[in-house]
Amino acid sequence: MTKFDTLLVANRGEIACRVMRTARAMGLRTVAVYSDADANARHVREADEAVHLGPAAARESYLNVEAVVEAARRTGAGAIHPGYGFLSENGAFVEALDAAGITFVGPPASAIAAMGDKSAAKARMHHAGVPLVPGYHGDDQDDALLRAEADKIGYPVLLKASAGGGGKGMRVVESGDGFQAALDGCRRESQAAFGDARMLIEKYLTQPRHVEVQVFCDSHGNGVYLFERDCSVQRRHQKVLEEAPAPGMTAELRREMGEAAVRAAQEIGYVGAGTVEFLLDADGSFYFMEMNTRLQVEHPVTEMITGQDLVEWQLRVAMGEALPSSQDELTITGHSFEARLYAEDPEQDFLPATGTLTRFAMDLEGAGLDPERVRLDSGVATGDAVSMHYDPMLAKLIVFGDDRDQALATLARALAALDVQGVVTNRTFLQRLATHPGFKNAELDTRFIERNEATLFAPRQYSIEEYAGAALVGLNQLARECESDSPWDRHDGFRLNAPHTIRIALCPTTQNQAHAQSPDAEGVVVVEGRREHGTETTWQLTIGGETLTASLEPLAGDAVAVTLDGHRRRLQARRDGHVVVMVDPRGETRLFWRRIDAIDHGHHEVESTLTAPMHGTVVALLVEPGASVEKGMPLMVMEAMKMEHTMAAPANGHVASFHFQAGDTVGQGDVLLEFAADE
Ligand code: ADP
Repeated sequence: MTKFDTLLVANRGEIACRVMRTARAMGLRTVAVYSDADANARHVREADEAVHLGPAAARESYLNVEAVVEAARRTGAGAIHPGYGFLSENGAFVEALDAAGITFVGPPASAIAAMGDKSAAKARMHHAGVPLVPGYHGDDQDDALLRAEADKIGYPVLLKASAGGGGKGMRVVESGDGFQAALDGCRRESQAAFGDARMLIEKYLTQPRHVEVQVFCDSHGNGVYLFERDCSVQRRHQKVLEEAPAPGMTAELRREMGEAAVRAAQEIGYVGAGTVEFLLDADGSFYFMEMNTRLQVEHPVTEMITGQDLVEWQLRVAMGEALPSSQDELTITGHSFEARLYAEDPEQDFLPATGTLTRFAMDLEGAGLDPERVRLDSGVATGDAVSMHYDPMLAKLIVFGDDRDQALATLARALAALDVQGVVTNRTFLQRLATHPGFKNAELDTRFIERNEATLFAPRQYSIEEYAGAALVGLNQLARECESDSPWDRHDGFRLNAPHTIRIALCPTTQNQAHAQSPDAEGVVVVEGRREHGTETTWQLTIGGETLTASLEPLAGDAVAVTLDGHRRRLQARRDGHVVVMVDPRGETRLFWRRIDAIDHGHHEVESTLTAPMHGTVVALLVEPGASVEKGMPLMVMEAMKMEHTMAAPANGHVASFHFQAGDTVGQGDVLLEFAADE
C-alpha cells in the first residue's frame, strides 16, 4: 500500500473510461491497454498513454497476465485497476502483481480465494453468523446422503456446482423422484465446465428478490456498507435494470443486511469495494448467496444515492488511506436506476449484435432532462465498431430522482433521448421495462421478465396516429433529402397548385427485419390537400376510413413536432432507408415505409425509387439531377462484393434526387435515388 501517481486500467469499454475519469480528477496519470480490435477504442483515445497487449481474443490480450504486468512496467504504473470481468477476480493475477511490486486496486488474493468456492464460502459465512439459504454444503458427496439432505430441506431444492458460476451446473429439482437424474446431470455439467463435480443443495426460493449490499473495507480494520441495490430484473441470471435503494426496505432490515454484509467481508480479511449478494424472500428473510470481490457494473446507482465516488474510495483505500466516511456519515438521498444498453436483439432471444455505430448520442437539453440527474457511462462513440470479441454491453444509463416514481419517469425519458443507430440494441426493451405497470408498482422478483413475457415481448399495436405520424416523418425526410422545402414541388408532378395524392404503405417491422415487407399487415395513408397558412403547412391524411388534419414542424436534430387534429406531440423521428423510427418516452414506433403512389397511378408503371440490391458502396453518380435521360441509361454505379452494379434509368425521365454520394456506404434495400418518369 503505497501512493502511486500512475494508474493502469486493465479493462476496456465503459468501465475503463469511468475509472480513468475519476483517476484523472484525482491528478493521476492514466494508462489504458488494448487489443488489436480496440486500437481506436474510446478508452484508448481518452487515456494519457496506452499499451497494446495482443490479438483481439481476450485470452491473448485482456486476460494475458504477463502482457498486462509488462504494460505496467513499461509505463511506470504503480497500480492496476481491473474493472469488472477479465482479471478482476483472478487470484493468480493478484499474486503476480504482489511479486512485481504493483498495487492491485482490490482485495488480497486470499479474500478472492475464500469466495471462489461456493461450499467453502458458505462454511465461512456460517461461521461469521451470516444467514444462509437452508441447505447442505458438506464434503460428503455420497448419493444417498445428498438425497436424504434434499428430502430434509423439502422440495423444490436447487442443486448447485460448488465450483460453479454463470448459472452452469445448476438445476431445480421439484420432487424426490427427479433427484438422482438431476444430480447426475449437474455433476456431468460441472465436471465438464469446472473440472470438479462437487455439489451443494439449497432450498429453492420460488419468488426471491436479488438484493445486494455494497461494502467497503480499508487496510486499517474499518468496514462500512453503502446500502443496497435491487437487481431482481434479470434475464438468464444476467442483470438488466438495477435500482437503489431497494423498494420496500425497512430501516431495520437495511441495517441487518448491511451489518451481515460487513461481517461477511471482515470474516475473509477483505479490503476495498465488494458486494455481498443476498436473496430476499417475500417474508423479509434474507440469505447469503455470494460475494463479488470487485466493483460491480451497477455501482453508479449507489453513487447517485450516497453522493460518493466509489472509484475514488477504491483508489484511496489502495493508497493505504482510511475510508473517507464512517457508517454514521453515510446517508441515502433520493432514488436511482441503471439500465444496461446491450448490442443485442431481445426479439431473437437476446442474440448479441455487431456492426458500426453510425450514431451514438444523447440530447439531454432537447429532451428537457437535467444533466445533474442523468449520467451516461459509455465506452463507445459515433463511428465505433461493435465486434463479437467482447461483452455486448455498450453503455449504462443512470438516472436520479427525488423518489422512485420520479426517477423511473426520468429513465423512460432518458431512454427516449438516447439516439443509437447502426447496431441493433435492447433500447426498446428497456423502455418497455421502464414503463411496465408491474415494474412501476415494484412487483419485483428474479422471475420478473419471465412472468411478464407476454406483455414485454408482445408485438406493438400501432394506433392510427402513429401510422399518420410516420407517413409525415418519412415524407419530411424525403423533402430534406431533396434539398427542397417540399417534395410536392419535385416529385411525380406533385406541384403546389396541382392537387395531388401521395399514397404511403406502412407496416410494423422489427430492428432486424428492417427491409421486410408483409403486405398483410399494411396500412395505407393517403396524403393530400396541402394547404399553407403562413409558415405552417397542413395536409389532409386519410387512413383506415378516418381523415385527419396534420402538420409537421422540424425541431433541432432529429426532433419533430407532429400535430394531428390539434393534438401536438414531440418526438425523435427519422427515416433510415425504408424504415421510419419514432421515439418518445412511452416507447418506440418502427414502421416500414414505402411510397406506392407512383405505381398506383397507373399511367406509368415505373418505380419512383431505385433501391440498392445489396449492401455496398456508391462508386459514382453519372447524371445531374433534373437532366433528361433515356430509358436504360446508366444513372449511378455501386460496388458490392467486389463487383460493380449499374443502376439504369427505368424509363425516359429524370433523376429527381440522389440519396447518397460517391463513397457512401449503402445497406440492402436503401433508396438510392428518386426517379421521375416522363408522362
Ligand atoms: P452463479 O454463480 O452461477 O451465477 P448464483 O448462486 O449467483 O449462481 O445464482 C444465480 C441466480 O440464481 C441468482 O441471482 C438467483 O436469481 C438464482 N438463485 C440462486 N440460488 C437460488 C435459490 N436458492 N433459490 C432461488 N433462486 C436462486
